[in-house]
Amino acid sequence: MPVIKVHDKSFETYLSEETIQQRVKELADAINADYAGKRPLFIAILNGSFMFAADLFKCLTIEAEICFIKLASYKGMKSSGNVVTSIGLEDDLFDKEVIIVEDIVDTGKTLHNFLPKLGHQQPRSLRIATLLHKSEATVYPLKPDYVGFDIPNKFVVGYGLDYNGLGRNLKEIYQVI
Ligand code: 5GP
Repeated sequence: MPVIKVHDKSFETYLSEETIQQRVKELADAINADYAGKRPLFIAILNGSFMFAADLFKCLTIEAEICFIKLASYKGMKSSGNVVTSIGLEDDLFDKEVIIVEDIVDTGKTLHNFLPKLGHQQPRSLRIATLLHKSEATVYPLKPDYVGFDIPNKFVVGYGLDYNGLGRNLKEIYQVI
Protein backbone atom coordinates (compact mmCIF):
# COMPACT_ATOMS: atom_id res chain seq x y z
CA MET A 1 0.00 0.00 0.00
CA PRO A 2 1.61 3.30 -1.04
CA VAL A 3 2.70 5.48 1.85
CA ILE A 4 2.92 9.23 1.30
CA LYS A 5 4.27 12.07 3.38
CA VAL A 6 2.47 15.37 3.94
CA HIS A 7 4.52 17.78 6.04
CA ASP A 8 5.79 15.69 8.98
CA LYS A 9 3.15 12.92 8.87
CA SER A 10 2.93 9.64 6.96
CA PHE A 11 -0.33 8.52 5.41
CA GLU A 12 -1.50 5.32 3.71
CA THR A 13 -4.18 4.90 1.08
CA TYR A 14 -7.61 4.49 2.61
CA LEU A 15 -10.11 5.08 -0.24
CA SER A 16 -9.08 4.69 -3.87
CA GLU A 17 -10.09 7.12 -6.59
CA GLU A 18 -12.37 4.48 -8.10
CA THR A 19 -14.08 3.75 -4.77
CA ILE A 20 -14.69 7.46 -4.16
CA GLN A 21 -16.04 8.11 -7.66
CA GLN A 22 -18.35 5.10 -7.49
CA ARG A 23 -19.78 6.24 -4.15
CA VAL A 24 -20.19 9.86 -5.28
CA LYS A 25 -22.21 8.58 -8.24
CA GLU A 26 -24.41 6.55 -5.87
CA LEU A 27 -25.04 9.62 -3.69
CA ALA A 28 -25.91 11.68 -6.78
CA ASP A 29 -28.31 8.95 -7.95
CA ALA A 30 -30.05 9.04 -4.56
CA ILE A 31 -30.33 12.84 -4.72
CA ASN A 32 -31.58 12.67 -8.33
CA ALA A 33 -34.34 10.35 -7.16
CA ASP A 34 -35.21 12.23 -3.95
CA TYR A 35 -35.31 15.65 -5.64
CA ALA A 36 -36.94 14.69 -8.94
CA GLY A 37 -39.06 17.63 -10.14
CA LYS A 38 -37.45 19.96 -7.58
CA ARG A 39 -34.59 22.40 -7.96
CA PRO A 40 -32.31 22.13 -4.94
CA LEU A 41 -29.70 24.69 -4.01
CA PHE A 42 -26.41 23.07 -2.99
CA ILE A 43 -24.36 25.07 -0.49
CA ALA A 44 -20.83 23.72 -0.60
CA ILE A 45 -18.62 24.53 2.36
CA LEU A 46 -15.11 25.58 1.36
CA ASN A 47 -12.31 24.73 1.26
CA GLY A 48 -12.49 20.98 1.81
CA SER A 49 -15.65 20.17 -0.13
CA PHE A 50 -14.68 21.67 -3.49
CA MET A 51 -13.74 18.37 -5.17
CA PHE A 52 -16.64 16.39 -3.76
CA ALA A 53 -19.07 19.19 -4.63
CA ALA A 54 -17.78 19.36 -8.22
CA ASP A 55 -17.94 15.59 -8.79
CA LEU A 56 -21.34 15.27 -7.12
CA PHE A 57 -22.74 18.19 -9.11
CA LYS A 58 -21.51 16.71 -12.40
CA CYS A 59 -23.46 13.51 -11.69
CA LEU A 60 -26.76 15.34 -11.16
CA THR A 61 -29.41 15.00 -13.84
CA ILE A 62 -32.02 17.17 -12.08
CA GLU A 63 -32.03 20.97 -12.26
CA ALA A 64 -29.89 22.31 -9.44
CA GLU A 65 -28.06 25.42 -8.28
CA ILE A 66 -24.83 25.62 -6.32
CA CYS A 67 -23.02 28.24 -4.27
CA PHE A 68 -19.88 28.11 -2.18
CA ILE A 69 -19.39 29.51 1.28
CA LYS A 70 -16.56 29.55 3.75
CA LEU A 71 -16.67 28.77 7.47
CA ALA A 72 -13.59 28.89 9.65
CA SER A 73 -13.15 26.25 12.37
CA TYR A 74 -10.16 23.98 11.83
CA LYS A 75 -6.43 24.39 12.42
CA GLY A 76 -3.82 21.64 12.00
CA MET A 77 -5.01 18.19 13.00
CA LYS A 78 -7.52 19.15 15.70
CA SER A 79 -10.89 20.76 15.26
CA SER A 80 -10.93 24.07 17.14
CA GLY A 81 -14.66 23.59 17.29
CA ASN A 82 -15.66 27.21 16.87
CA VAL A 83 -17.37 28.40 13.74
CA VAL A 84 -15.89 31.85 13.39
CA THR A 85 -17.58 33.17 10.32
CA SER A 86 -19.48 32.37 7.15
CA ILE A 87 -18.65 34.24 3.98
CA GLY A 88 -20.36 34.27 0.63
CA LEU A 89 -23.95 33.30 1.35
CA GLU A 90 -25.80 35.70 -0.89
CA ASP A 91 -28.74 33.59 -1.98
CA ASP A 92 -32.12 34.05 -0.33
CA LEU A 93 -32.96 30.63 1.07
CA PHE A 94 -36.64 31.25 1.73
CA ASP A 95 -38.70 28.30 0.45
CA LYS A 96 -35.63 26.68 -1.17
CA GLU A 97 -34.69 23.02 -1.02
CA VAL A 98 -31.22 23.35 0.47
CA ILE A 99 -28.53 20.67 0.55
CA ILE A 100 -25.36 21.44 2.50
CA VAL A 101 -22.26 19.81 0.99
CA GLU A 102 -19.46 18.99 3.44
CA ASP A 103 -16.20 17.11 3.03
CA ILE A 104 -16.32 15.60 6.51
CA VAL A 105 -18.45 15.72 9.62
CA ASP A 106 -16.26 15.06 12.66
CA THR A 107 -17.60 16.21 16.06
CA GLY A 108 -20.55 17.84 14.30
CA LYS A 109 -19.87 21.21 15.89
CA THR A 110 -19.34 23.14 12.66
CA LEU A 111 -22.75 22.26 11.27
CA HIS A 112 -24.43 22.30 14.67
CA ASN A 113 -23.40 25.97 14.97
CA PHE A 114 -24.10 26.86 11.38
CA LEU A 115 -27.42 25.16 10.60
CA PRO A 116 -29.55 27.44 12.82
CA LYS A 117 -28.26 30.44 10.84
CA LEU A 118 -29.66 28.88 7.69
CA GLY A 119 -32.83 27.77 9.45
CA HIS A 120 -33.65 31.42 10.21
CA GLN A 121 -34.06 32.00 6.50
CA GLN A 122 -36.85 29.42 6.39
CA PRO A 123 -35.74 27.10 3.60
CA ARG A 124 -38.43 24.62 2.53
CA SER A 125 -36.07 21.78 3.44
CA LEU A 126 -32.52 21.49 4.72
CA ARG A 127 -30.41 18.37 4.29
CA ILE A 128 -26.73 17.50 4.66
CA ALA A 129 -24.58 15.60 2.17
CA THR A 130 -21.13 14.72 3.47
CA LEU A 131 -18.51 12.59 1.80
CA LEU A 132 -17.05 11.40 5.10
CA HIS A 133 -18.58 10.96 8.55
CA LYS A 134 -16.60 10.13 11.69
CA SER A 135 -19.72 8.95 13.45
CA GLU A 136 -17.79 7.66 16.46
CA ALA A 137 -16.40 11.19 17.01
CA THR A 138 -19.86 12.74 17.26
CA VAL A 139 -20.22 15.23 20.11
CA TYR A 140 -23.04 17.32 18.70
CA PRO A 141 -25.97 15.17 17.62
CA LEU A 142 -26.28 15.60 13.92
CA LYS A 143 -27.39 13.03 11.39
CA PRO A 144 -26.20 13.75 7.85
CA ASP A 145 -28.79 12.69 5.26
CA TYR A 146 -26.33 11.55 2.58
CA VAL A 147 -23.06 9.98 3.76
CA GLY A 148 -20.38 8.70 1.41
CA PHE A 149 -18.31 6.76 3.93
CA ASP A 150 -18.50 6.32 7.68
CA ILE A 151 -14.84 6.33 8.72
CA PRO A 152 -12.89 5.69 11.93
CA ASN A 153 -11.76 8.58 14.09
CA LYS A 154 -8.38 9.00 12.38
CA PHE A 155 -7.08 12.03 10.50
CA VAL A 156 -7.43 11.86 6.70
CA VAL A 157 -6.20 13.93 3.76
CA GLY A 158 -6.80 14.03 0.01
CA TYR A 159 -9.68 14.64 -2.39
CA GLY A 160 -10.03 18.21 -1.14
CA LEU A 161 -9.06 17.62 2.49
CA ASP A 162 -5.78 19.10 3.69
CA TYR A 163 -3.20 18.80 6.40
CA ASN A 164 -2.00 22.34 7.07
CA GLY A 165 -2.72 23.43 3.52
CA LEU A 166 -1.29 20.43 1.66
CA GLY A 167 -2.78 17.23 0.26
CA ARG A 168 -5.97 18.63 -1.26
CA ASN A 169 -4.91 17.69 -4.80
CA LEU A 170 -4.65 13.96 -4.10
CA LYS A 171 -7.25 11.91 -6.01
CA GLU A 172 -7.45 9.32 -3.23
CA ILE A 173 -8.12 9.67 0.49
CA TYR A 174 -5.25 8.80 2.83
CA GLN A 175 -5.32 7.98 6.54
CA VAL A 176 -2.61 8.98 9.00
CA ILE A 177 -0.36 6.10 10.11
P1 5GP B 1 -16.51 19.21 13.11
O1 5GP B 1 -16.98 20.61 13.35
O2 5GP B 1 -17.58 18.29 12.59
O3 5GP B 1 -15.78 18.66 14.30
O4 5GP B 1 -15.37 19.31 12.02
C1 5GP B 1 -15.64 19.52 10.68
C2 5GP B 1 -14.43 20.08 9.98
O5 5GP B 1 -13.21 19.62 10.59
C3 5GP B 1 -14.37 19.59 8.55
O6 5GP B 1 -15.07 20.44 7.67
C4 5GP B 1 -12.88 19.58 8.28
O7 5GP B 1 -12.45 20.85 7.84
C5 5GP B 1 -12.24 19.31 9.62
N1 5GP B 1 -11.84 17.90 9.79
C6 5GP B 1 -12.36 17.01 10.65
N2 5GP B 1 -11.74 15.82 10.57
C7 5GP B 1 -10.79 15.96 9.61
C8 5GP B 1 -9.81 15.05 9.04
O8 5GP B 1 -9.68 13.87 9.39
N3 5GP B 1 -9.03 15.57 8.06
C9 5GP B 1 -9.12 16.86 7.64
N4 5GP B 1 -8.28 17.23 6.67
N5 5GP B 1 -10.03 17.73 8.14
C10 5GP B 1 -10.84 17.28 9.11
